[in-house]
Amino acid sequence: MATQKMLKFVSTPREMPEKRDAATRSEDFREIYQEFAAIKAAEQASRCSQCGVPYCQSHCPLHNNIPDWLRLTAEGRLEEAYRVSQATNTFPEICGRICPQDRLCEGNCVIEQSGHGTVTIGAIEKYITDTAFEEGWVSAAAPAQERAESIGIIGAGPGGLAAADALRRKGFQVTVYDRYDRAGGLLTYGIPGFKLEKDIVLRRNALLADGGVEFVLNCNVGEDISFDAIRGKHDAVLIATGVYKTRDLDMDNANAGGVVRAIDYLTASNKIDFGDEVPDFADGELNAAGKRVVVIGGGDTAMDCVRTAIRQGALSVKCLYRRDRANMPGSQREVQNAEEEGVEFVWLSAPGEFVGHVTGFAAEAQERDVDEVAQIGAVRVQRMRLGAPDVSGRQSPELIEGADYDEPAELVIKALGFEPEDLPKLWGTDGLEVTRWGTVKADFTTHRTSLPGVYAVGDIVRGASLVVWAIRDGREAADAIEDWLTGEARIAAE
Ligand code: FAD
Ligand code: SF4
Ligand code: SF4
Repeated sequence: MATQKMLKFVSTPREMPEKRDAATRSEDFREIYQEFAAIKAAEQASRCSQCGVPYCQSHCPLHNNIPDWLRLTAEGRLEEAYRVSQATNTFPEICGRICPQDRLCEGNCVIEQSGHGTVTIGAIEKYITDTAFEEGWVSAAAPAQERAESIGIIGAGPGGLAAADALRRKGFQVTVYDRYDRAGGLLTYGIPGFKLEKDIVLRRNALLADGGVEFVLNCNVGEDISFDAIRGKHDAVLIATGVYKTRDLDMDNANAGGVVRAIDYLTASNKIDFGDEVPDFADGELNAAGKRVVVIGGGDTAMDCVRTAIRQGALSVKCLYRRDRANMPGSQREVQNAEEEGVEFVWLSAPGEFVGHVTGFAAEAQERDVDEVAQIGAVRVQRMRLGAPDVSGRQSPELIEGADYDEPAELVIKALGFEPEDLPKLWGTDGLEVTRWGTVKADFTTHRTSLPGVYAVGDIVRGASLVVWAIRDGREAADAIEDWLTGEARIAAE
């Protein structure tokens, strides 16, 4: 019986693929986890108890059929495991690497709940699709029939690319526009190589192009081409532009020299990883080498910044977060990785002010009655304690008076989260409705916006979120666009 191979969680302990030791991995931008060997993947998959109501599946945003592909892996039927896995996930090898599994599938595995340690779902998902690529089981879109209708997708991040893949497989003509020189969105230029090596993303981009998706890169919609022109060229349009406006600090010298935005810092580092020339890195502005670095924030972006700074050869790296470890938004697994690599977390602390050497334009600053610092020398750190819970139930940080101190820093990286750009204003589209948070208003299942034939997915709708949610949105939007282009909804609207 198939289940004889399963239910091994009592006799077989949980094991992750081997992690490269901290000292070695801190020297480069390669992924830190090794691949499972076939025998280890099968062994770990066999720990699954094949739940009748699998909570892992219900807590996966894509509702991946996890128990089935675990059983097939345990039985050594990897090609079938791959077929089941890719039926619900456009980029399983990417999710396997970077989903915060401890908050999603693995965090809800019943074996984890019963104290035996979760089934290592993410690592097995990655293993299945990496093997599928090696074995040549992954193929580009080859639609049985071409369709004349075309779809313009603005944004080549996971949301846009998941939709592009699904629409192309349905036979539609798909063009993806992106302002960057490479496709992938934050997979390419946000998330560092030590979490997701760039070859993995480029491999997917190449597969999409091989399947007939047309990419128009270095094309900033709103500048190089208008939104209306894109609507005029295509039968339907999908907006998948992500969120890039950085939340800022309201304090003295918030933009002094040496204070940089996380997105600029990570983009530069990723470009260097590709071998590109980056003047702001070459002149030291976006390079942590030899500097005392302070990163402000407690989310995944902050975790990526601290670990990047370590790899660039920073003298020291400290992360300031205003709540404690238990209340931080970033993944605990990433905090542990960062600590192993030498990052120091200063919990319950926040920047009060940036201080430094007043140089150059001090006189001008005085004239304008501004206490301006040209180059950062230190962060004045305020100590906090956790007070009463706010409306969201989280304890609010409260200032401890008189406990401030100066933390020397030559580079400060602001990783405080992202907000949406004002698309209707940028693109001159009054009819495109947005929410009070500035995100594009779209139906939750069809992803239709207020404009006929225009859809929106991913972070620009949800606010800063996760890759797996963008993929889900993109796949759902592709189905809705197909309905629109082939069904009665469009005829009714025309
Ligand atoms: P994006 O990936 O942001 O892609 C949007 C694309 O649109 C970009 O390529 C951009 O160039 C393009 N674009 C924008 N405006 C225009 C325009 N006017 N014209 C043309 N093109 C345009 N999520 C996880 O699940 N796991 C992680 O480990 C993780 N780590 C992260 C680390 C960092 C540093 C950051 C910033 C985010 C991280 N996330 C992570 C979140 C995740 O990357 C996003 O939720 C996801 O990429 C959103 O996908 P998207 O397709 O909506 O947008
Ligand atoms: Fe888990 Fe993410 Fe894979 Fe779903 S897509 S099974 S949440 S790793
Ligand atoms: Fe297997 Fe855990 Fe999912 Fe149950 S919850 S099916 S044990 S992976």
